[in-house]
Amino acid sequence: MRYAASVADLIGNTPLVRLHSVTAGLHATVLAKVEYLNPGGSAKDRIAVRMIDAAEEAGLLRPGGTIIEPTSGNTGIGLALVAQQRGYRMIFVVPDKFAGEKMAVLRAYGAEVVEVPASVPPEHPDSYYSVADRLSREIPGAFTPNQFANPAAPRSHFETTGPEIWADTDGRVTHFVAGIGTGGTISGAGRFLKEASRGGIRVIGADPEGSIYSGGPVHGYLIEGVGEDFFPSNFDPGVVDDYVRVSDADAFAMTRRLAREEGLLVGGSSGMAVAAALEAARDLPAEAVVVVLLPDSGRGYLTKIFDDQWLGAHMSPTDLDTIVSV
Ligand code: PMP
Repeated sequence: MRYAASVADLIGNTPLVRLHSVTAGLHATVLAKVEYLNPGGSAKDRIAVRMIDAAEEAGLLRPGGTIIEPTSGNTGIGLALVAQQRGYRMIFVVPDKFAGEKMAVLRAYGAEVVEVPASVPPEHPDSYYSVADRLSREIPGAFTPNQFANPAAPRSHFETTGPEIWADTDGRVTHFVAGIGTGGTISGAGRFLKEASRGGIRVIGADPEGSIYSGGPVHGYLIEGVGEDFFPSNFDPGVVDDYVRVSDADAFAMTRRLAREEGLLVGGSSGMAVAAALEAARDLPAEAVVVVLLPDSGRGYLTKIFDDQWLGAHMSPTDLDTIVSV
C-alpha cells in the first residue's frame, strides 16, 4: 500500500507543466510549477510546515501550544492545516475587510478567527498587529510564526521548491520567474537555483505596478498576495537579476487565459507571473527553459478576477475590454 501518514506529508513535490497556448510564437520552453496542488491549495503550505518544525526544534512551540498569526490568506490555510495535524490551537487575527469566504475556510479547518477593524492605524490597540501582539503575550505557550521575517520561510523554498525545479528540469532551467510578496519564494528558491547552476540562472521578479520592489511610485493595485510598500527582511534583493512590472489588467487578462486555454485555474499573482515570464522569454532561444511559479488556485477569486461585474466596478472601461475580450 502506498499512502501518506498525514495530509501534511503531501506538501511539496508539485509538478511542472508546459504552457503551450499562451506561449504561441515563443521559442523557449515555458514550464509552470503548479503550487495549487499542495493540500492547502498554495505554495504557503511549504513555509507553514517548516516554520512549525523550526519552532518545535527551538522549543518555541510545545504540546498544547497556540499559534497566532495576523493573516487571512494562504499562509493561514497552511498553518491551520499543519497546526491541526500536530494538535496545536490556531488563532488568526483578520482585518474585517476580508469578511466571508476566507474566514470561513480558516474556521472550516478548525481555527479560531478574531476579526479586527481594517480602518485603524497599526499603532491603534484594535489593529491587526496590536491584537496579535496582545494575544501572544496573554496566551501561555503562544507562538507567532511571522512569515515576513522567519528564516524558516525562505529556507523551506531553498530546501524544497528550488531542488524540485532543478531535479525536474535535469538542471536545464535557465530562468526562474516568481512574484514577490514576503520575498520567501524568490529568495529561497532563487538562491538554491543560482548555487546549483553556479550562477547560470537568471532570476526574474514579477511585480505589480505600484509595488516597491521594482521601483517607481508606490500606489494601490488589485493583484493579491504580491508586491509590498516596505522591504521585508525575508526578501533578499541580491537574488533578483531583473524585474518585470505587470499591470492589474495584464495580470488579470493572463489569469483568465490560463483558465481557458491551459486548463489552469489560478489566482491573479499567477497570471502576473506568467505575463512577466512571457515578457522575459520573448527573445530567448529554443534552448532556454523558463520556470514560472504559480502560487495559488483561482477558486479564491471567482467573485473577483473571474467576475465581469466586479472587474467593471474596479477597472477602467479600456482595461475591462482588454480583460474580457481574451
Ligand atoms: N501569490 C500569492 C497568492 C501569495 O499569497 C503570495 C504570498 N504572499 C505570493 C504570491 C508571494 O510569495 P512570497 O511571500 O513567498 O514572496
